[in-house]
Amino acid sequence: MDCIFCNIINRTAHAEILFENDNVISFLDTSPVNFGHALVVTKKHYPDFLTVPGNELNHVIQAAQVISDVISRKLKCHGFNLVVNNGAAAGQTVKHFHLHIIPRFDQDDFRFKLNLKKYSDDSMREYADKIREELK
Ligand code: 5GP
Ligand code: ZN
Repeated sequence: MDCIFCNIINRTAHAEILFENDNVISFLDTSPVNFGHALVVTKKHYPDFLTVPGNELNHVIQAAQVISDVISRKLKCHGFNLVVNNGAAAGQTVKHFHLHIIPRFDQDDFRFKLNLKKYSDDSMREYADKIREELK
């Protein structure tokens, strides 16, 4: 299996690595939303969010907290987004689990909240019921 993130982890591909420990690696995204956009990646290959064991998620989120704090202070960004794209429909292009840290600036031109929908009548409760049923 040829995986670009596995190749970065085993040093057969180059990346601007920011941080690494036994469980995770973090490096700059080559196509940043804003400069300093970083990825936090499990060292083991999991194809997506739903396949990552809980303890591995803990490692990723704990590293992300430290790295996003440093990015905020060093790049003086005004905020940041933590994003996981899961599945092709959601924009996942690399099938090795990763979390994006996207530095944000007041008035930058990146927008998540475009074309927001409105629930009609009872449909909000119906959506909630459908999801809740399985979570009980
Ligand atoms: P996804 O689209 O799967 O959520 O995120 C994958 C990210 O990996 C993309 O933002 C893309 O720019 C980045 N990426 C793809 N190939 C490489 C690479 O070879 N090196 C680095 N550093 N980032 C990459
Ligand atoms: Zn991989």
